[in-house]
Amino acid sequence: MTVSEFRARSRRLREARRLIVKVGSALLVDARSGRLNRAWLESLGDDLARAAKRGQQIIVVSSGAIALGRRHLGLADGRLRLEESQAAAAVGQIRLARAWQEILEERGLAVAQVLLTLEDTEDRRRYLNARATLNTLLGLGAVPVINENDTVATAEIRYGDNDRLAARVAQMASAECLVLLSDIDGLYSADPRRDPGARFVPEIVEVDAAIEAMASGPGAGVGSGGMTTKVAAARIAVGAGCSLCIASGRRPNPLRAIEEGERCSWFLPAGTPLALRKQWIAGTLQPRGRLSVDGGAAAALRRGKSLLPAGVTRVAGRFERGDTVSVFADGAEIARGLAAYSSHDAAAIAGRRSGEIAALLGYRGREELIHRDDLVMLGV
Ligand code: GLU
Repeated sequence: MTVSEFRARSRRLREARRLIVKVGSALLVDARSGRLNRAWLESLGDDLARAAKRGQQIIVVSSGAIALGRRHLGLADGRLRLEESQAAAAVGQIRLARAWQEILEERGLAVAQVLLTLEDTEDRRRYLNARATLNTLLGLGAVPVINENDTVATAEIRYGDNDRLAARVAQMASAECLVLLSDIDGLYSADPRRDPGARFVPEIVEVDAAIEAMASGPGAGVGSGGMTTKVAAARIAVGAGCSLCIASGRRPNPLRAIEEGERCSWFLPAGTPLALRKQWIAGTLQPRGRLSVDGGAAAALRRGKSLLPAGVTRVAGRFERGDTVSVFADGAEIARGLAAYSSHDAAAIAGRRSGEIAALLGYRGREELIHRDDLVMLGV
């Protein structure tokens, strides 16, 4: 693939409305001194600021807490015990966050620290809460800098690698592009350091067994996560409609380099995040509840609007916020969507104006009972 073909592919990075950049420990922290690679981080800060200026919303997933913290605690090289890595993370995370704050604030960007655990992405209620927080931060123009909450994560409930964490975040935020900055420039058919015949793989449209085999070959363990977790991350990301790029961070201005056509491996999704999300909603086997709507609301939905409580005439079934419900008009199912309220609260606000929600429920929730991004019309 030529430079101009790589440059053309980087459109996915330049044009993503939401862009996630994951930075590995090996890039952030100098292996010998255990110090932050400040100059490199500054150059990445420049790239991120430029993306923000273009109007892109940015999330950073940053590793490096354990690597930074261990030196300050005088922990020797080699494998740490779980409690030692938790302690190192506690010391390192505060430094990591400060570095990101300094670097991004100097460039006019507000920074937010978000520490996630596995349950925040796997438990439905916590997932929805984390998603809402990320959306709010991005809407307010802040850059969330995310890491795993290593200090409280124990072995069984830990991601352990930020590649898959970043992919989950991409899914949660409906991001269009995730860049994994790594110490290797992409996926190879075999380990390039051992096999001179190893082929570079510039584009992957399906993460099949052959691709997984390439990632799991001997010597594939480059960096902390290795290629296996990168391909696992790619599977999650493309399944959510997010393009994923594995690129080298072993140079200053790594994002600009991708934009200028430096080679990297692109994993391409079959659809956009919104389309795949809607497909998933439409495919729900058993919606948990049923909302009957009047003619006015049905017409509004057909014009692509959200469902407001005012148009709902009846609420049936038991559901929680975030569950899939069916929308019925004249006895026929016309749409499906994710409810923004539980069945209990939906029943209380059905038929009422959105302005009354706070008074009826005692809290200020969303104006819509189903937001149009969470709604699919059936049979149209
Ligand atoms: N969360 C870990 C840290 O900040 C890094 C995990 C990884 O290397 O992927 O030190």
